[in-house]
Amino acid sequence: MKPVNDVIDGLGTTIFTVMSALSVEHGAINLGQGFPDEDGPADVREAAARAALDGPNQYPPMMGLPALRRAVAAHNKRFYGLEVDWESQVLVTSGATEALTASLLALLRPGDEAVLIEPVYDSYLPIVRLAGATARMVRLRPPESSVAEWSLPEAELRAAFGPKTKLLVMNSPMNPTGKVFSGAELALIASLATEHDAYVICDEVYEHLVFSGARHVPLMTLPGMAGRCIRIGSAGKTFSLTGWKVGYLTGAAELIAAVAKAHQFITFTTPPSLQQAVAHGLGKEDAYFDGLAAAMERKRDRLVAGLREVGFNVLASQGTYFANVDFRPLWNEGGDVDFATMLVREARVGSIPVSAFYPADPPAHMVRLCFCKQDAVLDEAIARLKAFF
Ligand code: PMP
Ligand code: GLN
Repeated sequence: MKPVNDVIDGLGTTIFTVMSALSVEHGAINLGQGFPDEDGPADVREAAARAALDGPNQYPPMMGLPALRRAVAAHNKRFYGLEVDWESQVLVTSGATEALTASLLALLRPGDEAVLIEPVYDSYLPIVRLAGATARMVRLRPPESSVAEWSLPEAELRAAFGPKTKLLVMNSPMNPTGKVFSGAELALIASLATEHDAYVICDEVYEHLVFSGARHVPLMTLPGMAGRCIRIGSAGKTFSLTGWKVGYLTGAAELIAAVAKAHQFITFTTPPSLQQAVAHGLGKEDAYFDGLAAAMERKRDRLVAGLREVGFNVLASQGTYFANVDFRPLWNEGGDVDFATMLVREARVGSIPVSAFYPADPPAHMVRLCFCKQDAVLDEAIARLKAFF
C-alpha cells in the first residue's frame, strides 16, 4: 500500500484519550482530560432540546446562525468593548479545535513560519505542519522558587520572529500552565506582530475562567491589533458543555472570509440546535459568568490545598481548569510519564504528564491535574494521594 500522509502518520493518539482510557481501566479518579463532571446551565440545555424538537434541523448557514453570530458580536462588545460586525466578522465552527485548524489552514502557506509557545496545546503543531509551514518554538520559563509564575522570555520570543513569520498562536488563559499572560507580555507580542506584519491566532477558550477577580484581556483590544488577531472562543468551556463542540471566531472581515473558506470544507456547518442554545447562553446575565469563575476558583483552591498537604510543589494557576505540580519533593524515580502511569495504576488518580505539551526535549518533572470536578471527587482524589504517599 502507498504510505499515508507523513504528518498524520507521525501522530499518536492524544494524551487526553490515552490517560482517560487508563483512568477507566484502573478505576481511577480522572483528573487528566479537562472536562467538568457536572453539565452546564439547565436553561442552555433546555434551549438546545427545544430547538432540536421545534426545528428546523437542516443545514444552517455556513457562517453560523445569525442569532449566534449576533450573540458573539454582542458578547465581544459587552465584555471587551470590541465593535464587531456580526455578518462579516464572526464565524461559527464545530469547536475551538476546528476554529484553530481552519484558521491555520487559511492563513499559512508552505515555507511560512508560525511561532508557537511551549508548553503548547497538542493540536497546534500538527496543523502547522499539515499546512506545510514550519514552527518556531518559544519556551516559557517554568516557575522556580525565585519566580513563581511561568514567564515569557523576551529575547527568545524576539529571536523567533523573522521575515518568514506569518503568525503566532497564543493561548491565554493557557492550557496546561494556568498562566494568564500579563499586560507587558501582551504588549510585547503586539509590538512584535506589528513590527513583523504577522497575524496572531488567539486561543481564548478559557476567557471566562480567570481567577482572583482578574478580567481577561483579549490581545485584540490592544492598539493596532484588531486587524491582526483572530480571537477564538468555545461554548464547551464557557458553558461547561465540552461535548457540544461549538466554537466561534472574531476577526477582521478579510480574515474571517478566508477562514470561512477553509471551514466550508472541514465541517461546512455546526448543529443548529446547539448554535441556538449557545446564542441564548451568551446572553445570560453577568452573574452567570462571574459565578462560573468564582466556582472554579473555589475548586482550584480546594485541590491546590490538598495537593500541598500531600507534599507536592504546586505551581501557580491563575485561570483554566488546571493546576500543575512538580512531583520531585515526593518522587524521583523517573520522568512524568512514569509518574502519571504509576499514579493512575497505583494511587488510582489520573493526570496528564506535562511533557506531552512539548514536541521535543521536554521538562519531565510536572503533571497537570484538572480541578473542574465536584468537591467530593476532589476530596477523594486527595485522600487517595495521601494514602499512597
Ligand atoms: N484550545 C485549548 C487550549 C483547549 O484546552 C481546548 C480544549 N479542550 C480547545 C482548544 C478545544 O476546544 P473545543 O472543545 O471547543 O474544540
Ligand atoms: N482540552 C482538553 C484538555 O486539555 C482535552 C480535549 C481533548 O481531549 N481533545 O484536557
